[in-house]
Amino acid sequence: MSAAAKPTVWWVRRDFRLADNPALGAAAADGAPVLPLFVLDPVLLASAGEARRAWLFAALHQLDADLREGGGPGLSVAQGRPAEVLSRVAREAEADTVHIAADFGPYGRRRDDAVREALAEADVELTATGSPYAVAPGSLMNKSGTPFQVFTPFHRAWQERGVHGPAPAVDPAKVTWLQATDRHELEEADPDLLERAGERAAHEAWETWRHQDSEGLTDYHRLHDFPGPDATSHLSVALRWGHLHPRTLLADLSAHTGAGAAALARQLAWRDFFADVLLHRPDAVTQPIRSEFTGLPSDEPRDNPEAAARLQAWQQGRTGYPLVDAGMRQLRAEGWMHNRVRMVVASFLIKDLHLGWWEGAAWFMRHLRDGDIAQNQLNWQWVAGCGTDASPYFRIFNPLTQSSKFDADGTYIRRYVPELADVPLKHLHEPWSAPGGPPAGYPGPIVDHATERKESLDRYELIKR
Ligand SMILES: Cc1cc2nc3c(=O)[nH]c(=O)nc-3n(C[C@H](O)[C@H](O)[C@H](O)COP(=O)(O)OP(=O)(O)OC[C@H]3O[C@@H](n4cnc5c(N)ncnc54)[C@H](O)[C@@H]3O)c2cc1C
Repeated sequence: MSAAAKPTVWWVRRDFRLADNPALGAAAADGAPVLPLFVLDPVLLASAGEARRAWLFAALHQLDADLREGGGPGLSVAQGRPAEVLSRVAREAEADTVHIAADFGPYGRRRDDAVREALAEADVELTATGSPYAVAPGSLMNKSGTPFQVFTPFHRAWQERGVHGPAPAVDPAKVTWLQATDRHELEEADPDLLERAGERAAHEAWETWRHQDSEGLTDYHRLHDFPGPDATSHLSVALRWGHLHPRTLLADLSAHTGAGAAALARQLAWRDFFADVLLHRPDAVTQPIRSEFTGLPSDEPRDNPEAAARLQAWQQGRTGYPLVDAGMRQLRAEGWMHNRVRMVVASFLIKDLHLGWWEGAAWFMRHLRDGDIAQNQLNWQWVAGCGTDASPYFRIFNPLTQSSKFDADGTYIRRYVPELADVPLKHLHEPWSAPGGPPAGYPGPIVDHATERKESLDRYELIKR
């Protein structure tokens, strides 16, 4: 350690990893002793559903174990308002700097401003190095110097800019680790999640998927839209929690020349795009980006029992539309849903049930392990037609066509809707068409798609410019 190296705090937020971690590298620079800290923020805990909380606790245990393996006392966990906790911990550790990866979400930015201000009073600096994105939000502007509104030119600029290689590795065995005096006892984690959360499991899953002979990276461009083979990377949870950084993935992808690798890199650019959009439009958490959509009438489940019943049927996977129900049940069972099905269920909620996109977005945030405010709200707005570069409102998904096209052999539906196990394929996508109607225990369709499609287009006429 150099004489000047004062202790630092590495404040972990959504970067649960030791590799490719510039903020950790900055914290440990010059041999500074590092206190790794996670703050259980009551505001975030209150808004996280069970699925995200469970993953969080598993991730905390894993990071703690990884730090102990490096010879340190493990992760310090504290509970309370971040500004208060950070000030106390930095003072006790006699740290001069708190290191973070930048957060670009509206709540994260407000929280970090408050922490920065509180730390400044004690002469402690809050230093941001890196971000959870390949290209940090705010880095790219279009030719007229304004934020990108459309993905394709953003993607072009993103590709032209290029992405840094992974950050130099920090050898945990060479760091002097510190711990906080007052450590919060971690609640136990679900053993199944413990196996899957964390950096090591994420790397293993990524390596397996990208090298497998079929239904992996080489087939991604062909199969990613089909939920039956389940051939997407499932990286979203690891990315959400920072078990892997997109920089690492892009560096690995550069070793692959096929169309699968290019298609996956493009999806990672979508992730950066939505984070960039939210930075410039923080109101998009609750407000439509296209302001005319504030005038689009939607039904209000709080004062309309019939709308409340429709919302509940959607949430429980009991709409009578098999692909929609399969998706909603996958969400509850696994805390995850295939992207094509996310689009179908979202469209169904908005355009067949006439409920506000924010109702669906809130349900997703409660149940998704990868729940992320930028990706979630802006994908919902994309489906609703009110977001940046969104799918046009009048292009209304037909849930039956989607079902027979993307789950043609019914593998996905049968996986999640056991009541339909014995329904012959020719009736599987519309079980009400079977002689005798849908099987016992499975509902008939709660709405008629053709009627509701027309209703949606009529409502759209009210705001069309
Ligand atoms: C209504 C709706 C809500 C969504 N909510 C979230 C959310 O809360 N959190 C989240 O991470 N993703 C969200 N997505 C995007 C997408 O569905 C998931 O990222 C994807 O299904 C995750 O599976 P995967 O990792 O196997 O994806 P892959 O197809 O393997 O893609 C690799 C990675 O690219 C990124 N990516 C892929 N598709 C998208 C997309 N449409 N938008 C932005 N990034 C993308 C993700 O980081 C993903 O992990 C949502 C999509 C919709 C339509």
